[in-house]
Amino acid sequence: MLIKITTLPGDGIGPEVTEQAVYVLRAVAEGFGHEIKVTEKNVGGAALVASNDPLPADTIESCLASGAVLLGAVGGPAFDRYPANLRPEAGLLKLRKTLGVFANLRPAVCIPGLESLSPLRAEIVRGTDMMIVRELLGGVYFGERSTTGDASDRSRRAVDSMAYSEPEIERIARIAFELAGKRRKKIVSVDKANVLDSSRLWRDVVTRVAKDFPEIQLSHMYVDSAAMALVSRPADFDVILTENMFGDILSDQAGAVVGSLGLLPSASVGGKVGLYEPIHGSAPDIAGKGIANPLGAILSAAMLLRHSFLLEAEAAAIESAVKEVLAAGHRTKDLAAKGQGAVATKEMGELVASRIRSAKPALQQK
Ligand code: NAD
Repeated sequence: MLIKITTLPGDGIGPEVTEQAVYVLRAVAEGFGHEIKVTEKNVGGAALVASNDPLPADTIESCLASGAVLLGAVGGPAFDRYPANLRPEAGLLKLRKTLGVFANLRPAVCIPGLESLSPLRAEIVRGTDMMIVRELLGGVYFGERSTTGDASDRSRRAVDSMAYSEPEIERIARIAFELAGKRRKKIVSVDKANVLDSSRLWRDVVTRVAKDFPEIQLSHMYVDSAAMALVSRPADFDVILTENMFGDILSDQAGAVVGSLGLLPSASVGGKVGLYEPIHGSAPDIAGKGIANPLGAILSAAMLLRHSFLLEAEAAAIESAVKEVLAAGHRTKDLAAKGQGAVATKEMGELVASRIRSAKPALQQK
């Protein structure tokens, strides 16, 4: 198969971690007999510096002509004074919209042996393996908004509206049910149906969609209860399905529960071309030092193979290699305990790639 992708390394540690993800992708492609074509383009601050546009036309063109897009990170202090439409983040929001990716998939997994990274007790976090499916292009972030009145007489009033239509809910629900079918077959749909009309519609439509997936066990939870359950019994969750703002908050909470920013990948799918990126930012405090953890980017590359190219065995090969490398005790600085040695960004990429190369014969026989 031809794996044709566009990479958008972006800013800060983005280029460092993306380079390792591509290195690992090449090892997988070679091991499984695929051809890989990578086109690198600018986004965010890097694009602003090069062409005064956080998402240049040639970047959009290349992304739309690819099977998937792998992004590093955008932003940094150098761009904080730019006007809103010329901020690196504006490029990322426009990219998500242009690609039409309405489903954000955020796994939060406690990798065996890394329980101590969690702020929770090991016995609570152990076994956590959830996937948060967040609606990405609707709800309050995209609803009608206004501010009226005047600051001088303290008469200002601001309104944001949370709107959802049946088709918007149905399409994200279907993605969650299909995903749950490939996992432990459990969905918790999170809403605030005791208060919000948009949540009552959400619950109604999700319940209707569930009838098409009788093998999946669906339950509903209010967002406040879900927030509590996420920290008191995180290992109970399989798939969490929720709207945009609730998902924004809960997915960061889930990330904190497993406690490893540098390890977590994400996928945004459902549109013309899927977008894959680690959840961390550009980490300007460590950029250029060669010590960033590339595993979030590498695991994003695994999601890219699974969701955009339907290459399940190849995706699983990356995930197993990452687990093995960690189980063997290798750590980047962010994961290392006090006094424990740490490997550099490049070394971590090499360790994962070499596991894949050595596992290749066994994998291909399966
Ligand atoms: P951040 O995720 O960049 O960094 C938070 C902390 O985690 C820092 O101490 C950093 O060194 C550490 N860290 C993050 N990723 C790491 C990795 N892979 N390996 C080792 N350590 C890692 O968040 P921030 O500091 O709040 O934001 C920095 C910049 O990134 C800002 O400009 C922000 O707007 C941007 N940002 C971009 C994205 C994105 O591109 N999707 C997401 C979040 C933040």
